[in-house]
Amino acid sequence: MPRIVFVGPPGSGKGTQAAILAKAQGLAHLSTGDLLREAVAAGTPRGQQARSYMEAGRLVPDDLVLQILSERIAAPDAQHGFVLDGYPRNLAQAEALARITPLDAVIAFELSFPELEARLSGRRVCPVCHTVYNIVTKPPATPGVCDREGATLVQRPDDQPAAIRTRLSVYAEETAPLLRYYQDRRLLRTLDARGSAPDVAARLARLLR
Ligand code: AMP
Repeated sequence: MPRIVFVGPPGSGKGTQAAILAKAQGLAHLSTGDLLREAVAAGTPRGQQARSYMEAGRLVPDDLVLQILSERIAAPDAQHGFVLDGYPRNLAQAEALARITPLDAVIAFELSFPELEARLSGRRVCPVCHTVYNIVTKPPATPGVCDREGATLVQRPDDQPAAIRTRLSVYAEETAPLLRYYQDRRLLRTLDARGSAPDVAARLARLLR
């Protein structure tokens, strides 16, 4: 039962690759970012609490994210293995996760700062199916419209320039120390995250063999 965690800066392609890998291997795709965005959109108390942190590009408080993740990871589809995308984001979360589940591999996504910025600022998302596009590198067939759902694509509020800067520095300060944590536990494998989604998916499949 593969239990895989993706760690990497925002814009490095974790969500895209998690969706591809989960589909290919019949794993559950657990994304704390998606779960939080759903809570915000539904206007639940948790969503209301999370909203301002997310829009500013800061981390949502650990206890709230852990509650959301604990519920999701207990769902039937996650019992056959999962790809966890966006959690943990700091050492306290890594320790909380270790108390919930063992892990088989942690994939570290590597991409340069200018490439991250370009991907984040060009990113557009389908509000219905969460498919991610990029106005430069992966445009939809009709500009601004999801290929699958026909819905109007949106830009995430946290993909605005100020929030992008905050998210990249939060990653460097709080999340990057996890690389050492997982390396010490012999779980870390490094992925070159440059290039197209299919290229990265092929590299990732080799890394997991
Ligand atoms: P993502 O879609 O993974 O980039 O997450 C979007 C935003 O959701 C982040 O910038 C945080 O505000 C929040 N978020 C997602 N996952 C976590 C987490 N594990 N801990 C705290 N905040 C999170």
